[in-house]
Amino acid sequence: MSRLIVQKYGGTSVGSIERINKVADNIKRHTLQGDRVVVVVSAMSGRTDELLNLAAQISENPSRREMDALLSSGEQVTSTLLSLALHHRNVAAHSYMGWQIPINTDSSHTAARILSINNKQLKKDLKQGYVPVIPGFQGVDANNNITTLGRGGSDTTAVAVAASIKADECQIYTDVDGIYTTDPRIEKQARLLEKVTLEEMLELARLGSKVLHSRSVGIAARHQVPLRVLSSFKDGAKQQGTLVVKRGDKEMEETIVAGIAHSSKEAKISIIGVPNTPGIAADILRPLSEENIEVDMIVQNAGAAGTTDFTFTVSRSDYKKSRKLMTKISEKLRAAKVNGDDTIAKVSVVGLGMKSHSGVAATMFEALAAAGINIQIISTSEIKISVIVEENYVELAVRCLHKAFNLHKK
Ligand code: ASP
Ligand code: MG
Repeated sequence: MSRLIVQKYGGTSVGSIERINKVADNIKRHTLQGDRVVVVVSAMSGRTDELLNLAAQISENPSRREMDALLSSGEQVTSTLLSLALHHRNVAAHSYMGWQIPINTDSSHTAARILSINNKQLKKDLKQGYVPVIPGFQGVDANNNITTLGRGGSDTTAVAVAASIKADECQIYTDVDGIYTTDPRIEKQARLLEKVTLEEMLELARLGSKVLHSRSVGIAARHQVPLRVLSSFKDGAKQQGTLVVKRGDKEMEETIVAGIAHSSKEAKISIIGVPNTPGIAADILRPLSEENIEVDMIVQNAGAAGTTDFTFTVSRSDYKKSRKLMTKISEKLRAAKVNGDDTIAKVSVVGLGMKSHSGVAATMFEALAAAGINIQIISTSEIKISVIVEENYVELAVRCLHKAFNLHKK
């Protein structure tokens, strides 16, 4: 059956000429099968970091507009090389830069959001038998400035393109063969999931599973794009990968927990002894939001007489800046002191089945206690429980939770 597919290839999948040739072979196989394919590529692995590093040698605080023009060049290279590799195989292909499509975004440089995609040229190419090859991660704003979507953003480009052309499937090719119950580098018994629901995938991606950019899962959910994660290192014809499905498309044997995510790059800050008056939470958080710093967990406890202790977590890359802002605000609010810790990690258990099964939290906390792991902060939502632990314990925590929830068994 001929299908309309968007295929996205990540950095390691296009990390060398050898890999690019393999990708071209896989695309050719699909076109011979009669599929119409639109391709989205990342930069060669390590390239975006290299470019960031070059800029860092010039400036500590480089213009974000210039950074976008610089970083987008990585994907420009791979899209053209892949197009050449397709020509070499007698597959008609056209590479395009984001602005040529165009992929329209807002103007938040280095963290832009896709507003719309003009699919006219893509449809024309598909009709004429060309494979359009589009660089992921980049777009253009209303003033013709090049923008980028944030690290890992090529997945988001792919899903947005798939939504725009109403593709039958968006395939994300990466260096692992799908979504696992947890990171297989940490837990050898981690199991490849045949299916995972969009809700679970969204939480896993947000909470640290690096396989998919979380915004891409959000778009897939909103636009009902069938999404599949596969390995570009395996024969494309011989694998199913993981299908990300709507709830209800997954058998209702319902596992209680789908998987365990972890994120080591966290930090926490506490403002101790803040006068307990209305408005202080807003006073504390406002300077952070003004600097576009995303706050994750927030806890407020009663402190000593009439005061309160306020703790929140941020990404570790925002730690120093956040601490400076908090020192300033704590003086203004006459708080007693500011504490911080940038050696913490977050471990999360995710599963739709949690909604209807009590006792998941108890199982989780018991397992951590049995392993001697201290929980610093807990946060929950309908389908996830996250805990903050000392960074050194993160791998142990992942392993003991994987076992406690029997995730190695189908
Ligand atoms: N090249 C960009 C990055 O490394 C985007 C991507 O690969 O998804 O973040
Ligand atoms: Mg990625």
